[in-house]
Amino acid sequence: MNILVVNAGSSSIKYQLIDMTTEKPLSSGIVERIGLEEGTITHKTFLNGEEKKTKEVFPIPDHTVGLKRVAELLVDEEWGVISDPSEIQAVGHRLVHGGEAFTKTVVITEEVKAKVKELFPLAPLHNPANLIGVEVAEKVFPNATQIGVFDTAFHQTMPEVAYRYAIPNELYTEMGIRKYGFHGTSHKYVSEKAVEYLGNEKAKVVTIHLGNGASMAAVDGGVCKDTTMGIGPLNGLIMGTRSGDVDPSIIFYLIEQKGYSVAEVSKILNKESGMQGLTGDTDMRDIEDRYMKGDKTAILAYEMYAYRIQQFIGKYAAAMNGLDAIVFTAGIGENDTIARSLVCKNMTYFGIEMDEAKNAVRSKDIREINVEGAKTKVLVIPTNEELEIAQQSYNLVK
Ligand code: AMP
Repeated sequence: MNILVVNAGSSSIKYQLIDMTTEKPLSSGIVERIGLEEGTITHKTFLNGEEKKTKEVFPIPDHTVGLKRVAELLVDEEWGVISDPSEIQAVGHRLVHGGEAFTKTVVITEEVKAKVKELFPLAPLHNPANLIGVEVAEKVFPNATQIGVFDTAFHQTMPEVAYRYAIPNELYTEMGIRKYGFHGTSHKYVSEKAVEYLGNEKAKVVTIHLGNGASMAAVDGGVCKDTTMGIGPLNGLIMGTRSGDVDPSIIFYLIEQKGYSVAEVSKILNKESGMQGLTGDTDMRDIEDRYMKGDKTAILAYEMYAYRIQQFIGKYAAAMNGLDAIVFTAGIGENDTIARSLVCKNMTYFGIEMDEAKNAVRSKDIREINVEGAKTKVLVIPTNEELEIAQQSYNLVK
């Protein structure tokens, strides 16, 4: 069975066609610059151990045109990997915000779509684009079951004590203002891999997803108990361009005392803060180069980045009353030896002791990088959100 995984953004569609017998992609790609003068489709195929890539540049006025071309490419004589679109049994959609309505993966019905629409105010940048992806896929792949996999669903097991804010109750009961958390698909995937690796279903694991966006989760016996992102993705860790936790008074100070508009403050905290705000660079590889050259700005930013993560490890060890493993994942977590090393520095109280030689090894496999006999395992587990979406979709249609 083949599952097409679709992640639709406002001007892009990422896709991966996964063969569920091998759990490997047959093809992957991205449609970009939708609605602009020149759109692009970068399409890759993985057949017989060989990777091939093609790029097309042409006007892509809307998502329908983009996805229709993807459907053609998937069956194309030269670039195809299947012979007919009907060989795609399900399309698994990454949907960002499921609010309190969705605690697990669902088959998308009219009712589900209406609910996703109701949640637009909670995820104004993501949910509308995600829904366009669903509606377009329904047209382009009418024989496939459309499935929704929510980024928030894994975190719905958090206890009320963790997800509520100490603000007037009505703001929660009438407006749904609470912690939801994101990157749930990744936290679920790597925490399950960790449990499997540790051979302990009851393991208390802190998952640390460090990509351009970054978040952590406390996963106790496979169940999410807390996470760093909140009602939106701005909270918690220091990220590429997002501030993570700040004193909310900063917002009022900027608006009331310094005359900034709400939109300007939002832009500052979402797009101009985090590593970008601290160093002027967003890509960790650039900041890493500067760190290695002894650049003081980069060193401070890295130390702040790691310090925030260390604090959450402490919080989550407290939340779970224990800690068996921490798991690094995503672009930075899987590749950045400096970030991992700084996070594990002076953490012996939590049983965390890194083996620097193991940390320095580059690999795409699950690996343990703590010293022999350390109380808490330090694991690097590559995330695979597309495979997780495909697996969850497969479970609903098989
Ligand atoms: P993601 O959102 O998971 O794709 O991760 C993106 C982030 O991973 C970017 O900040 C990249 O700079 C970072 N990244 C990717 N490869 C490396 C690497 N080899 N070393 C350090 N950071 C990396």
